[in-house]
Amino acid sequence: MRVCGVQMSEPVWKKIREAAPLNAEGLLAGLDLDQSFPVDVEAVAQGMGIGIERTADDEDGCLVIEDGKATIKISERVAPVRQRFTIAHELGHLALGHEFERTIHRDVSPQRPWKVEREANAWAAQFLMPEDRVRVVAKALSSLEEMASYFNVSTDAMIYRLKDLGIID
Ligand SMILES: [Zn+2]
Repeated sequence: MRVCGVQMSEPVWKKIREAAPLNAEGLLAGLDLDQSFPVDVEAVAQGMGIGIERTADDEDGCLVIEDGKATIKISERVAPVRQRFTIAHELGHLALGHEFERTIHRDVSPQRPWKVEREANAWAAQFLMPEDRVRVVAKALSSLEEMASYFNVSTDAMIYRLKDLGIID
C-alpha cells in the first residue's frame, strides 16, 4: 500500500497559495468558472493545477506532493458525495496554506479533532455550499434532501451547514 503523505516543496506551495485565495468563495470567483451548482470540485482542482487520483484505499483521501506536483488521492470505495467533500477538504488545506512538513497527512473518518482539520472542513463547506446560494436555495426548496441534492453533498453536511448559518436550529 502506498503511503500518503505530504513533503514540503516550497515552490509548489507558494504557487498554490498564490493561485488560491484564502476565501473559498473568492476561489470560485477567481477561477472564473460559471457559478453553476453543484460546484465541479474536480474542475476547480484542475484549474489549480492539482491532480486527482482514485485509489482503493480504506482511508478517505490524502494530499501528496511529489516531484513538484500536488495530487489529491481519493478512495473510490466511499460514497461520491463524501469523495467530493474530501476533495474540497484537501483543497482547503492547500488554499489555507496548511503545511504538513515531514508528517503524513491522511484523512480518515472520523477525523481527528485538530484545528487544521476543522478549518479545512469549514473551508470545504463554504466552497461547496456558499452562503448566498444556500440562503436562496433554502427559500426555494422545501426539503433537506432536495437541498443536499442541489449541492451534491450528504444530508449530514447540508444539515451542518444550515445550522452553521443559523437557517435551522
Ligand atoms: Zn485533512
